[in-house]
Amino acid sequence: MKFRKIGVLTSGGDAPGMNASVRAVVRTALENGIEVLGIIGGYSGLINDKVIPLTARDVSNSIAKGGTLLLTDRCDEFKTPEGMAKAIETCKKHHIDAIVAIGGDGTFRGATDLTNHGIPTIGVTGTIDNDISATDYTVGFDTAMNTVIEMVDRLRDTGESHARCMVTEVMGRHCGEIALLTGIASGAVAVAIPEIDFDVEACIKKMIQLRAEGKRSFQIIVSEGVGGMKSDFGEELAEILEERTGIETRFNRLGHIVRGGIPTLRDRLAASRMGAKAVDLLLEGKSNLVVCEIDSDIVPVDINYSFALDKMYKKKLKDGDLDAFTEEQIKEMREFCARKTAYVKELYDLANALAK
Ligand code: ADP
Repeated sequence: MKFRKIGVLTSGGDAPGMNASVRAVVRTALENGIEVLGIIGGYSGLINDKVIPLTARDVSNSIAKGGTLLLTDRCDEFKTPEGMAKAIETCKKHHIDAIVAIGGDGTFRGATDLTNHGIPTIGVTGTIDNDISATDYTVGFDTAMNTVIEMVDRLRDTGESHARCMVTEVMGRHCGEIALLTGIASGAVAVAIPEIDFDVEACIKKMIQLRAEGKRSFQIIVSEGVGGMKSDFGEELAEILEERTGIETRFNRLGHIVRGGIPTLRDRLAASRMGAKAVDLLLEGKSNLVVCEIDSDIVPVDINYSFALDKMYKKKLKDGDLDAFTEEQIKEMREFCARKTAYVKELYDLANALAK
C-alpha cells in the first residue's frame, strides 16, 4: 500500500526515548517519500486539529531529549463517538492516511479504535513500566531504572552514614519490574512487587539478624502497585519495620523523578528500531499491530493478541476474551504466561538470595 502522508503522536504517560521513536518514524517515512505530520498532545491533538509538518531537521537532536517534544495529554473525549468523529475529521482534512501512536496500553486501545474507524494505526511502546506483556521491552524502562539506581545509591550514602533503613517506592503501576530489577541492581535487602506476596515477618527477621551481624544500612524497594495503586504500602512498611526492628527507617517516594531525563543507549536503540519498524509495517499494508522486542528481534504483534495476553498474565480474563483466538494461540499465550511468571519468580528469589 502506498501512503502519501502519515501522522505520529505520543500519548499517555511520557517516557524517555519517545522522541527517538518520533525521529525514527519521521526519517524512515521521508526516506520512503511519505510526508509526516506531528500530532500535538496525543489524541487530543487529533480531536482539536493540532498538527504540524515534520521534516528531518525538525527532529534534529531530539534523540538525546527526554520527555516528549510532541507533548502528551490524557484525553477521555477520544473514547467517545463524538471525539472519534472529530479525530477522523482531522485525519481527512489533512489527508492523514495512517498513524503511528507511541505510548502504553491505553494508547494502543485508542490505536485499535482508529484502525477500526478506517485509519490504519500501529503502536510503538513508550512507557517506563515495561507492562506490555507482548514485548520483552518498552521504551523508557532502562532510563527510568538507571535513574532509580542513581537515586538509591544516594540514599545508600546517607543510610550508611546514619545506620538507617531506606524504603524507596518506585513507579511501575501494576507491574513490579522496575522495582524488581532495580532492587537487584541496588543490592536491596528486600523487594516488594504486586506479582508476589510480600513476607513482612521474613523481612523483619532478616533485618534483625543482619543488623546483629553488623550490617549498618538497608535498602528496600517497593513498587507503587503493591496493595493497589491507592495503597500506602511502602509508607506503612517503613513504619512497621522501624517499630519491629528498632532500626531507624525513612520512606522515600521517587515519583515522577524517574520519568524524566536523557534516554539511555538501550532506550534510544529500541526506540529507533521500533519507530522505523512501524513505518515499514505500514508500508507493507499492515495495521493494528504493536511493535515489540522479542528475544532481541523487533517484531509486530497483533494489538488484540497483546491485550488478551496482558489480561491472561494479569489474571484479568473475562468470559469471551479468548473467543477470537485459535487453540494454538491460546496454548502459546498460556506457555508465555508460565514463562514470564517463572522469570519474575527467578529474579525475586535472586534478589532475596543476594540480600545478605
Ligand atoms: P498509556 O498509553 O500510557 O497507557 P493512558 O491509559 O492514559 O496512557 O492512555 C492514553 C490515551 O489513550 C488516553 O488519554 C485516551 O485518549 C486513549 N485511551 C485510553 N484508553 C482507551 C480506550 N479504552 N479506548 C480508546 N482510547 C483510549
